[in-house]
Amino acid sequence: MPRLSTDWGMWEVTSATTVPATDEWLPKAACRGPESALFFPPAWSERRDERGEREARAKAICESCNVRRPCLEFAVAINEQHGIWGGLNESERRHLLASSAARQVQAPAPMHERRQRAAV
Ligand code: SF4
Repeated sequence: MPRLSTDWGMWEVTSATTVPATDEWLPKAACRGPESALFFPPAWSERRDERGEREARAKAICESCNVRRPCLEFAVAINEQHGIWGGLNESERRHLLASSAARQVQAPAPMHERRQRAAV
């Protein structure tokens, strides 16, 4: 199951077997309450500018949330397809996963491993 290994601004998806338990971080979520509707699209059709404004308001709440990291890890781990989680919308999460997967494929082995392989 994918998991984020990151410092803020340096997101990397790695393998892990655990999903952050919601009872540990969800009670501390800054999005609980009346503004929770900002985090998911409405039942009616939303114009692009409306969506952008709604998402910007939601992401501003995420910026000050103390559980942003486990929230995003959870969304990635369960492959959540909708809404803002951890400050990223669904398309940004897909991009994060894709770019992390690409880095893992392209990343060269550490120098000590390449030397070991060459010595064999
Ligand atoms: S990071 Fe955003 S979506 Fe996640 S719990 Fe916090 S406010 Fe809610």
